[in-house]
Amino acid sequence: MKIKRNNIPDIHLNLNVRGLRPSATLAINELSTKLRQQGKHIYKLGLGQSPFPVPRPVVEALKVNAFQKDYLPVNGLPQLRSAVAEWHYKRQGLDFRADDILIGPGSKELMFMLQLVYYGDLVIPTPSWVSYAPQAHIIGRHVRWLQTNAENNWMLMPEELEKLCSQDKDRPRLVILNYPSNPTGRTYSIQQLKALAKVAREFKVILLSDEIYGELHHQGKHISIARYYPEGTIVSTGLSKWCGAGGWRLGAFAFPQSLNWLCEAMAVVASETYTSTSAPIQFAAVRAFKGGTEIEHYLAKCRRILSAIGKYAFESLKQAEIRVAKPQGGFYLFPDFSPYKEKLNKRKIYTSEELCGMLLESTGVAMLPGSHFGRPPEEMTARIAYVDFDGARALEAAEQYDPTKPLDETFLEIYTTNTVTAIDLMVSWIHDYFAG
Ligand code: PMP
Repeated sequence: MKIKRNNIPDIHLNLNVRGLRPSATLAINELSTKLRQQGKHIYKLGLGQSPFPVPRPVVEALKVNAFQKDYLPVNGLPQLRSAVAEWHYKRQGLDFRADDILIGPGSKELMFMLQLVYYGDLVIPTPSWVSYAPQAHIIGRHVRWLQTNAENNWMLMPEELEKLCSQDKDRPRLVILNYPSNPTGRTYSIQQLKALAKVAREFKVILLSDEIYGELHHQGKHISIARYYPEGTIVSTGLSKWCGAGGWRLGAFAFPQSLNWLCEAMAVVASETYTSTSAPIQFAAVRAFKGGTEIEHYLAKCRRILSAIGKYAFESLKQAEIRVAKPQGGFYLFPDFSPYKEKLNKRKIYTSEELCGMLLESTGVAMLPGSHFGRPPEEMTARIAYVDFDGARALEAAEQYDPTKPLDETFLEIYTTNTVTAIDLMVSWIHDYFAG
């Protein structure tokens, strides 16, 4: 029997989502997988997923909690909320109570709910992580982009924020600051954080500090801006990056007491949508946030490996005269191919999308165009996620290397082969086609 197709016209699609494409990072991953299935070797520098396994004690905690089947409180498991509050105190000296913590199925979902309940403009630097602006569009909020530039390593300058805020002093605004940054791999110094905090306080903005890569600061020296603007900063973290557990879907917001009303409103939305975050995952997350020697050791090794690849990639690209800022945390680089713009144009490559398409076709290296991060389409920027390697194997091998020295190129060639090859391929592609 033929099933009759329902042909309700798509004009009934909500205007805010009409024309939106699926999340850019997922699309490139799917395309790469498709090409791989066709027998092409694809270097996956597109999707920003941690290459490392979840630390052993956290996996063990999940195993023993598999039986947990009850719905948990909307705001999160009380032990987990305490563990997150204590974690913020131990790592950053931040004074949150368990009641100030909201657990959700990924920090992305929490960000969406925050934008939904807070009536104000979304203010983000360009470049910024791919999902902030689409979330604002879905909800129908205005997005105001703050300019940065390659000369400043794509860092947000306090003057830019001040310029925007002083145009209309009392307008409600949600500013998102993300560091170490996706897509640039850069982070802020204490002076820079203090200067940004001063402007945020002056204009009473709500600051969402997206510190999901904080623990992956390559020197383990992340500083939260909440230290300098505690009354207006919501700190966002989760298990996806430092704990390698993106697919587990667990995020946590920490609210200052003065913003308790926002936390309460978000919990109402949560109660009417996802109800609560997966119970076994929350029990396991308690173990992750409690930390301890084994997890510290794991983190130290992750940082060491990421720092070595980041340095290798940065130096190789720089030598090929591709503009790029030195990475300081996380696993991204944001190269700018503008020095080759004229030559690229001559080959009919006018946008960063075309650049990424061409590179994928010619070398098999997948990366994301800068336009997905809020950069102008014709600017020749792209994001590299240097994570195409077997993290478990690399962690095990790093154990054998002198901990007082940085990991060398031999280590990288053996244990992070795909990533190193991808960078080398990019460099020789640029060299063969465009140099001279
Ligand atoms: N913020 C940034 C900057 C990210 O890169 C990501 C994940 N790619 C998220 C937030 C969302 O993370 P999750 O929902 O997995 O907590």
